[in-house]
Amino acid sequence: MKRASPIWHPMTQHALSPEAIPIVRAEGACLYARDARGQERRIIDGISSWWVNTHGHCHPSIVEAVQAQAEKLEQVIFAGFTHDPAEKLTRKLLKIVDPSLKYVFYSDSGSTAIEAALKMAIGYFEHTGKPRRRIVALEGGYHGDTFGAMSAGSRGVFNALYEPFLFDVKHLPFPTQGSEQQTIQTFERWLVKRGSEIAALILEPLVQGAAGMRMYSPETLKALADLCKAHGVLLIADEVMTGFGRTGTMFACEQAGIAPDLLCLSKGLTGGFLPMGATLATEEIYKAFYHQDRSKTFFHSTSFTGNALACAAALASLEIWESEPVTERIERVEAQHKKAAGWFMARPDVAGVRVKGSIFALDVRDDVNGYLSALGPQIYDFMLDRDVLLRPIGNCVYVLPPYCIEEQDLEYIYAMLWACLDSLSEQCSRAAAAGQRKVA
Ligand SMILES: *Cc1c(COP(=O)(O)O)cnc(C)c1O
Repeated sequence: MKRASPIWHPMTQHALSPEAIPIVRAEGACLYARDARGQERRIIDGISSWWVNTHGHCHPSIVEAVQAQAEKLEQVIFAGFTHDPAEKLTRKLLKIVDPSLKYVFYSDSGSTAIEAALKMAIGYFEHTGKPRRRIVALEGGYHGDTFGAMSAGSRGVFNALYEPFLFDVKHLPFPTQGSEQQTIQTFERWLVKRGSEIAALILEPLVQGAAGMRMYSPETLKALADLCKAHGVLLIADEVMTGFGRTGTMFACEQAGIAPDLLCLSKGLTGGFLPMGATLATEEIYKAFYHQDRSKTFFHSTSFTGNALACAAALASLEIWESEPVTERIERVEAQHKKAAGWFMARPDVAGVRVKGSIFALDVRDDVNGYLSALGPQIYDFMLDRDVLLRPIGNCVYVLPPYCIEEQDLEYIYAMLWACLDSLSEQCSRAAAAGQRKVA
């Protein structure tokens, strides 16, 4: 129980974890810690600080925008009041999404953007007098840790404790390669049978992040979106992780040529600089709440909705897309990922390698004696000892860097990961040999 710090960290088993590493500054794709001797230690941020950072840490334009805004207005109640950064950001956002999305609702995080979307979807059907009360989601999905978001998400170790408190959501089988038709046909069957009860389909387009960077085809996404349209079911696209270039296009939905009814954004929205969520809605959904009757108000808020500093950061981040070669950077990262994928694919201890935009992921085979179940923490430690931050999800190791990562830093990550897998298989074969000797 004895620890130096009284902070309770997220997703951290304090009984097993070492003390958190104090970071004193960050720049580009790197974090800087100070070691025990007061020396600066450079750590490559291989996961964009939990998928939020896009243009690099402390990007000077965002720093400047936030500084300038802080001197004018930091925060104001967002009901009955507005401000320039929010108005400008909203217009800019609406320019880069599908034109059918017409209104932007702000909150503080990915989870809150999801909560707002779910409430809008339910409210839409209630207010238009044709209640639909079922939510469908993709198996394996992750939408955040609040109760509504947990309900929509996949059930597992992260939320088993709260399962009795979650509302019922139907989960479609994930469209793994070769089983896409099964997913599409299952959804179609449900729609034919109980379509008039289904309010919305919620999914992470193209890449399921927390499920282990699971990817599926744009064609499948398009087929699911078409079925939603045909049956009057709202499509909620959770682009909290995939948004802002992560998958190679500004939004993953673009690759399938689809337009969701509700679009949830967060993480990269401010370039990863400040917490902020946004839920974008169509005119039709907005109209369902637009009424002389006050009881039809969208009763939802978070205290810091539309925070002026977050809006200024988001606006500056979107301007970087216009002033810097961001798309080229993502393409360069993707090209490097693809080259590395070729090497890792050849390894017998690697089960599958996949790349989408700036995301590189592989699964390490862990069917050996159950020994490798402790794989994630082992890889984490090995990489961190070599000054690389990777945080595997089970046996899935992924690299998801800020787009500005230096070519040689990315090469270094692959090289260290290669060495890490070598070291793991060595340990594994030594353990197996020892086991055989014992049997003999
Ligand atoms: C991270 C994430 C969320 C939750 O966002 P928070 O800001 O952590 O609440 C929701 N959906 C997806 C796809 C995510 O990756």
